[in-house]
Amino acid sequence: MKKLLIYPNNNPQSLAIEAELREKLLAVTCQIVDSPFDRPDYIVTIGGDGTLLSAFHEFQDCLDKVQFIGIHTGHLGFYTDWLPDELDELVKGIGNNDGKSTSYPLLRVTIRQTNQEEVSYLALNELSLRTFPSTMVCDIYVKDQFFETFRGDGLCVATPTGSTGLNKSLGGAIIHPRLDAIQMTEMASLNNRVFRSLSSPMVIPRDEWFTVRPEVNSREALLMVDHLKIEGLIVEEIHLELAEERLHFASFRHTHFWDRVEESFIGNK
Ligand code: NAP
Repeated sequence: MKKLLIYPNNNPQSLAIEAELREKLLAVTCQIVDSPFDRPDYIVTIGGDGTLLSAFHEFQDCLDKVQFIGIHTGHLGFYTDWLPDELDELVKGIGNNDGKSTSYPLLRVTIRQTNQEEVSYLALNELSLRTFPSTMVCDIYVKDQFFETFRGDGLCVATPTGSTGLNKSLGGAIIHPRLDAIQMTEMASLNNRVFRSLSSPMVIPRDEWFTVRPEVNSREALLMVDHLKIEGLIVEEIHLELAEERLHFASFRHTHFWDRVEESFIGNK
């Protein structure tokens, strides 16, 4: 029997939908569980992208097995395909359980600290690093080869699905998630006769990686993995590459990626 975990945010609408969903699920064969230790097959988030990002970080240890389903009660809901009035169709999909899923690339962030200890994170959207108020200075390597010295407010390295988040606001391209690639964008780079960096977004494939080495005064940069602030690290080097893990979404029905982009950012239909 398939196991399902429901993950709502605290918004009253989300909690009401959770209650309605629990009742509708009585009609199909599945077990509702409350803990990741129960190894759920489906995690149903109810909220917006923020809720889905939280669930992703909380349940990272079962990514190989679990399929996510997002019900939209948030503001934007780029990751959340299901609307509250589509619960019957969703429950039917869970009952039919055809096992089909769509998977999205993730970013592996490995940080080596000056004491040589390493910490590693998975990001669904991006890693961003900034120093404030001073200029961030760091050397950037592509595939271990020196590329440039960046000076500016900060850097963002995004996954394809994260390309519609912070990356888009920084002028990055929107990348179709079938492409196995990561993208680096700059935040307010210093460009003049003395200092120069590329100033364009860079997209690299699976067999390449970025290494960012902050100069001494930029080693305590503000690091964000998606919505999570990583504190207390003195960074020597950050290694960024596509992760081996992927995030799986149940695909009882298919939402075309560009339809999702159009709905989220243009909204003509
Ligand atoms: P937040 O203020 O809770 O979220 C910012 C907005 O970004 C929300 O409307 C959220 O949708 C939306 N969002 C999240 N992931 C997205 C994606 N992959 N594509 C399109 N929109 C997306 O911010 P937070 O909790 O600190 O950070 C969460 C994420 O928001 C970050 O990973 C970053 O990508 C994005 N963000 C963007 C900016 C910017 O564009 N300047 C600034 C901060 C954060 P919901 O309303 O559905 O939750």
